[in-house]
Amino acid sequence: MAPQSKRDYYEVLGLAKNASGEEIKKAYRKLAVQHHPDKNPGDASAEAKFKELSEAYEVLSDEKKRQAYNQFGHAGVNGGPGGFGGFGGGGDFDGSSINDIFGDIFGDLFGAATGQRGGGARRRRGRPGADLETSVDISFEDAYRGAEKVISVSRRVNCDTCSGNGAKPGTEPETCKQCQGRGEVTFQQGFFAVSRPCTTCQGTGRVIPSPCANCRGAGKIKKTSQLSITIPAGVDSGQRLKLSGEGEAGEGGAHSGDLYVHIRVLEHDFFHRDGAEVLCDIPISFSQAALGTEIEVPTLDGRVKMKIPAGTQSQKIFRLKNKGLPKLGSYGNGDQLCRVIVEVPSKLSKEQVEVLKRFEDLSKADTQSHPMQKKFFEKVKHWFE
Ligand SMILES: [Zn+2]
Ligand SMILES: [Zn+2]
Repeated sequence: MAPQSKRDYYEVLGLAKNASGEEIKKAYRKLAVQHHPDKNPGDASAEAKFKELSEAYEVLSDEKKRQAYNQFGHAGVNGGPGGFGGFGGGGDFDGSSINDIFGDIFGDLFGAATGQRGGGARRRRGRPGADLETSVDISFEDAYRGAEKVISVSRRVNCDTCSGNGAKPGTEPETCKQCQGRGEVTFQQGFFAVSRPCTTCQGTGRVIPSPCANCRGAGKIKKTSQLSITIPAGVDSGQRLKLSGEGEAGEGGAHSGDLYVHIRVLEHDFFHRDGAEVLCDIPISFSQAALGTEIEVPTLDGRVKMKIPAGTQSQKIFRLKNKGLPKLGSYGNGDQLCRVIVEVPSKLSKEQVEVLKRFEDLSKADTQSHPMQKKFFEKVKHWFE
C-alpha cells in the first residue's frame, strides 16, 4: 500500500469526521471481527483489510494522532512534515501495536489465543491483590451508637525485608533473558503474532538470582494485622463494610484488593429490631392494666416514663417516637414500639384470692366492667336460639 493510495481512515471505519471515541471503538470492533485473519484463513484481501482497519483505529483512537491526522492527513501520522512517525513508511506497522490494541479491547472477543495475549499484557502491568472477607460480631448497643472495633486480618502483604521485590537485600531482580522482560514469548504465524506467557519468569518479566530469605523470593508474606474499623451507628446484620485497599497486596505495583467486613449484630436480652425500629415487650399486671399507671420502660437512650391508660388490653403497642436506631443512610431515628403484655397472676396468696373472689362477685353484678366478654356471650346466646 503506497501512502498516496491510502483510504481516509474515517472512510475505512465508516464513520463521520466528528465520531466519538466510543463510536470509533465500536466500529473497529465490529469490522475487525468480520475481517480478522483467524476467521478468514488464507484470504489475503481480508488480511489487508484487517491491517487497514487496525491502522485507522490506532490513529483515530489516539487523541494526539487523530488531531494530527485531521490537520495533515496521512502525512501527519506517517513521519511526514509535522508528523508523529507513528508507523514505518508505506503503512507497514509492527505486530506489537496490534497486540496492544488487542490487549485493550479484544480480550473478550476471541478465545484462548487472544485471551492469553491479554493475560500476558496484564501480567506485565501487575496483578491487583485479591479481595478478602471477614466478619465481626457487635452488640445491640454498638449497633445503636456506632463503635470502633479492632479486627485481625491475615493477608499477604509486601515483604518488609525486600520491599516486595523478592530479591535478597543488596541484590536486584534481573530482566528475564528468555523473554527480554516482556513476560511473554511471541512467535510469528503468518501475519499474526501469537504470544504465550513466558515459563521462565511465569510472565513477570523478571527473575530473582538471590531470593530474599524472609519471603523466599515471593515478595509477599502472610501477616496478621490488627485493623481498627469504624462501625457506623444503625448498622444491621447482613450488611458489610468495605475497606478499600485493605485486601491482599497487588503484584508488580498493582493496587491492593479490598476487605469486606460482614456485620453480625448479637441478640439483645429484651430489645429486638425491625430495621431502625426497636421492639420491646413490657409485662404489666392486670390491675395496672385495669387501673392505669405510669411505668418506666428501658430505651437505648435511657429510661423513659410511659403512661398506661386505664383499661389497656394485652398486646397493645405504644410508640415512643425517635427512640429507635439511627436510620443508616438517611436521617433521624426509628421509633421504639413497646408491646404491653398483661400478666395474669399465677401464684396467689390467701389474701389476694379473697380480694379477687370479691372482685369476681362484683364483676358478675356489674354489666359494664367487661364489655368484650359480655358482647361475646350475648352473640353466642343468639346463635343457639
Ligand atoms: Zn520471561
Ligand atoms: Zn522478601
